[in-house]
Amino acid sequence: MTRSLSNRVFRFAPSSNGYLHLGHAYSALLNFEMARATGGRLLLRIEDIDIERCRPEFERAIYEDLCWLGLAWEEPVRRQSEHFAEYASALDRLGAQGLTYPCFCTRGEIMVAVASKPDWPRDPDGSPLYPGTCKHLSQEERRRRLAAGQLAAQRIDMEAALARVGFRLGWREYSGAGMEGRDVAAEPGLWGDAVLSRKDIPTSYHIAVVFDDALQGATDVVRGEDLFMATSLHRLLQVLLDLPAPSYHHHPLLRDASGQKLSKSLRAKSLRALRQEGLSAAAAREKLTSGLILATAP
Ligand code: GLU
Repeated sequence: MTRSLSNRVFRFAPSSNGYLHLGHAYSALLNFEMARATGGRLLLRIEDIDIERCRPEFERAIYEDLCWLGLAWEEPVRRQSEHFAEYASALDRLGAQGLTYPCFCTRGEIMVAVASKPDWPRDPDGSPLYPGTCKHLSQEERRRRLAAGQLAAQRIDMEAALARVGFRLGWREYSGAGMEGRDVAAEPGLWGDAVLSRKDIPTSYHIAVVFDDALQGATDVVRGEDLFMATSLHRLLQVLLDLPAPSYHHHPLLRDASGQKLSKSLRAKSLRALRQEGLSAAAAREKLTSGLILATAP
């Protein structure tokens, strides 16, 4: 283990559902440089709860690509697919407080339920808020459906959760050239009755990420700004599960020449493809570092 000069703990948490692109390299390098600048530690976590889409060869490629970039992290790496039972018990704790309920709806049924309401509110990712169909099922009906083998997702009862917390949530966000900190008000209600475990996956990104950040002692969550709004939900879950609040830095996303953010789904060129085309690690780092905002204080 590397000796650390501060108690700051950073983590890079890629999903092994594809090859890393320059946007991931930017995020990884930023975490690495911030850990180095503050004398903190850097952890690596493989977020592979989607076991259908995540593959060992992508995980191996993550290690290869990060090594190629010259990054180092502490071992052992935490692999989320090995910890479903821990996430399930966190979810059970919310269930025991009456803050979740099973939802049997398909995506199609939800779409149909809101189709005739053009002004139906949407969550920050653009999906319609859950209309609450299964929230109103009786306990008996829930038991009957589960006993009949119907699969259920678990949703947070947002109204009950907000009432339970009873105070306004927020977090400390660091940004800008000097990494100035500001307080951001969390708005978890924007997510409505969000899914906390899926029918096919016994957890969700939201549960797994707050559980692991706390377990691994992450003090600084440095990730892309596409996750800024999700932090509201994460803060709510942290309070409900009695977990500490890290500081956050949501960094800008790298974009291609047409302004599109780099993404696996839009087939951004992978680091390994760039490498095969002759990009050197030094040139990649130079390219990325020129846009990096390095940590100074806090
Ligand atoms: N696994 C997420 C991703 O690859 C990152 C999650 C996080 O850093 O909180 O986009």
